[in-house]
Amino acid sequence: MGTAISSSTRQGKGAERNAFSGSARRQIRTELAAWFRANGRDLPWRRTTDAYAVLVSEFMCQQTQVATVVDYYERWMRAFPAVRSLAEADEQAVLGHWQGLGYYSRARNLHRAARMVMERHDGEIPADPVLLKALPGVGDYTAAAVMAFAFDRPAAVVDANVARVLARLCDYREPIDSARGKAFLHDAAAGLQAGRGGAREFNSALMELGAIICKPRTPLCPECPIRDACRTRAPEALPIKRARPVVTMVTERRAFISDGERVFLAQSSARWRGMWMLPEVDEPGALGHVEIYPITRYRVRMEVVRMRPPEDGTLRAFPLAALDAVPIPSPHRRVIRALATAGRSMHRAA
Ligand code: SF4
Repeated sequence: MGTAISSSTRQGKGAERNAFSGSARRQIRTELAAWFRANGRDLPWRRTTDAYAVLVSEFMCQQTQVATVVDYYERWMRAFPAVRSLAEADEQAVLGHWQGLGYYSRARNLHRAARMVMERHDGEIPADPVLLKALPGVGDYTAAAVMAFAFDRPAAVVDANVARVLARLCDYREPIDSARGKAFLHDAAAGLQAGRGGAREFNSALMELGAIICKPRTPLCPECPIRDACRTRAPEALPIKRARPVVTMVTERRAFISDGERVFLAQSSARWRGMWMLPEVDEPGALGHVEIYPITRYRVRMEVVRMRPPEDGTLRAFPLAALDAVPIPSPHRRVIRALATAGRSMHRAA
């Protein structure tokens, strides 16, 4: 077990009570592995043990569904096939390849991590959880994933799918998102693994079981390879989570400024730093569009007004036909597409 990932001080109190015997653990591993070899999805990052490729896939899969990530991952690996090519890319190109995935801090952190790997580790992703966690954007989970999937070292890789499987398998009836719950899951995941070897397959299989069999609302227990070991009698009621924070509604007003050929955008220095967005305005104007989108615990109502091109040069004009290459947050891109298309229709009708 990697030193930074496993720690006896993190032992959840219920872990010992819920521990499986040695033969039960072996049985679970054997059944899971056989099932995974026959049923695991062929995902591109499962075909490689290249640590950089694993790191990219892990950054992308944070907060984004696997089915969405596949295309982005393949395009990214064509554009930046190695740590060096990513480290040498400029930020606009990096953000451009990320656009559509959202949560752009992930792209910036991955970019900074690549530069740090070049500077500190001679271009090699370190096989050490402490050094991995010193990289921007790499926490316990991502470090564990790289250790297991790239280096095949035992590590507790507990994502949402694995957490659900373990809570049900162990019939864990406390909130899994509390410190105690997280410690319990970590120990349960670590405790099920073999001492050495097989971490890649075991963690992939557990994750896959959560994704396609032990589903959140409708677990397919009759098809489950580890149903004999599973302790819950009410899988739909697990896992238990703490109450969610209340979603807050906020309104922002932005301007769609276009002369029919170009759109005028402002560069963000805040949440979407470095990306190009519809400029924020205070003035009233004819409402052209309303876009509602979620950000963390907020729900943003973006009211978009049409305005004339400015004369003070504070905004940059981009040709509408070339916007694919410009890093623009998805909600803003959707508004531009909708209003540019509506504008063209109006011009044609006239
Ligand atoms: S038996 Fe059902 S609840 Fe238990 S791990 Fe399998 S799918 Fe999940």
